[in-house]
Amino acid sequence: METKYIFVTGGVVSSLGKGIISASLACLLKSRGYRVTIQKFDPYINIDPGTLNPYEHGECYVTVDGHEADLDLGHYERFTNVPTTRANNITTGRIYQSVIDKERRGDYLGKTVQIIPHITDEIKRNVKLLGNTGDFDFIITEIGGTVGDIESLPFLESVRQLRWELGMDSLCIHLTYVPYLKAAKELKTKPTQHSVKQLQQLGIQPDVLVLRTECDIPVAMRRKIAQFCNVAPDAVVQSIDLPSIYEVPVMMHAQHLDETVLRKMGVAPHGEPHMEPWMNFLDKMKRAEKVVTIGLVGKYVELQDAYKSINESLFQAATYNDRKLQLKYIHSEKLTDQNVDEMLKDMDGVIIAPGFGQRGIEGKFIALKWCREHDIPTFGICLGMQCMVIEFARNVLGYADANSTEMNPTTPHNVIDLMEEQKSISNMGGTMRLGAYDCRLAEDSTAAKAYGTTEVKERHRHRFEFNNDYRAEFERAGMRCVGENPATHLVEVVEIPGMRWWVGTQYHPEYTGTVLAPNPLFVSFVKAAIDYGRKREMNQL
Ligand code: GLN
Repeated sequence: METKYIFVTGGVVSSLGKGIISASLACLLKSRGYRVTIQKFDPYINIDPGTLNPYEHGECYVTVDGHEADLDLGHYERFTNVPTTRANNITTGRIYQSVIDKERRGDYLGKTVQIIPHITDEIKRNVKLLGNTGDFDFIITEIGGTVGDIESLPFLESVRQLRWELGMDSLCIHLTYVPYLKAAKELKTKPTQHSVKQLQQLGIQPDVLVLRTECDIPVAMRRKIAQFCNVAPDAVVQSIDLPSIYEVPVMMHAQHLDETVLRKMGVAPHGEPHMEPWMNFLDKMKRAEKVVTIGLVGKYVELQDAYKSINESLFQAATYNDRKLQLKYIHSEKLTDQNVDEMLKDMDGVIIAPGFGQRGIEGKFIALKWCREHDIPTFGICLGMQCMVIEFARNVLGYADANSTEMNPTTPHNVIDLMEEQKSISNMGGTMRLGAYDCRLAEDSTAAKAYGTTEVKERHRHRFEFNNDYRAEFERAGMRCVGENPATHLVEVVEIPGMRWWVGTQYHPEYTGTVLAPNPLFVSFVKAAIDYGRKREMNQL
């Protein structure tokens, strides 16, 4: 079968969930046995979101090959179980950088370099990159931003050209918003009509419309939209708010989105997608009644997207443990020795979040000391793991001034220090230790038991590391370095044996948790939290 290209555009407003719709369609096509991948084009000028503050763009996701990527790639992986790479996320900055590099090399042979054809050709080349590997039947390309944005114009022009070149092997899905006006008690289709018209003006006729809505859109209204937008009535589907994003594939299938897409691309849809494992997950999710309460200590707690992958990994782990997840965000800047008891006493388990910089760091130490002294299941991730090490150095080894050189470059007890290869780096973008690295675990460690193996590969995003000069001292005092990189001996996992569940990982296990394959460390942590919660409840009786 020729590789097929599906483009997903958005109109009216942003944040409609193009990523979830793309991921849901990919999930359905994959369940039909096709090889699918999703890529995202972001129209901003940054080379990648790695230098963006979480306030700008939520979490920064990391691919296996060490690319700092948009958080939608996390959804893609969670919905499809297909790992993403740097080819799955392209920005305007990357496109321009590559064109300018070619110009400097003289590749354009004296021609004037222009948006059309040079920028659009570069976009098209990137769209086809994954298709040309021969590894995929379907490439779903999500175009970030909304139709009408100046900055997405070159991307849409490329989509127009590709549709013309690829014919039936391509398709455009346009996602719009149908607002409900409370005062008028009416759903309004006009914004959708305008948005489709705008797309048509750019030479793109959508084949499928997905209407994002808060209330059910009557069939007659959907027909009207179909008629005004030159779209077949059966190709207008609604995406109504659901309690969980993981129900979206099922809702899309109920409206035959996958069949419509296949038929329009000349592929006969055989039978039904094999969604049993997915349905089993949803079933567990709906049946779960008992609650597990996890506290997440971080400094971006007011941002729902800042810890997206941690939230989702916890949710998956809770679901597989037959529990409803109650996630409490605990603002690390607001934690004090006086209120820590009140803030943490109802938690079954505590996660210390990743992060950068000084702000909120002392609160993490206060939380960690309290959790360690009360033997609460505790999970430190990246900066969270580094904080576990510092807290232990301060309060167990007795080095009151222990720190990371990130927070205090002149600390006499630099238990966390800049990695050797980082010392000569001055550029901020794309220069951390990024992507998947091997980790060898001690056989008797909590982590090895959780994974069921001593050899794992997880993704990283950091500049600082455990200082091995202190290793023997930590181990004598009871904190073990149970995971290390076999080639460099960088410490990847620390634990305190004898405690209920005390694990810190220099890597980010949250990036690899998917609906069908939850991350084992999260599953084990949540299980420990449930056991602890049960014991605590019994003691209270
Ligand atoms: N700031 C720390 C470092 O660079 C941790 C990074 C993180 O938590 N992702 O090493």
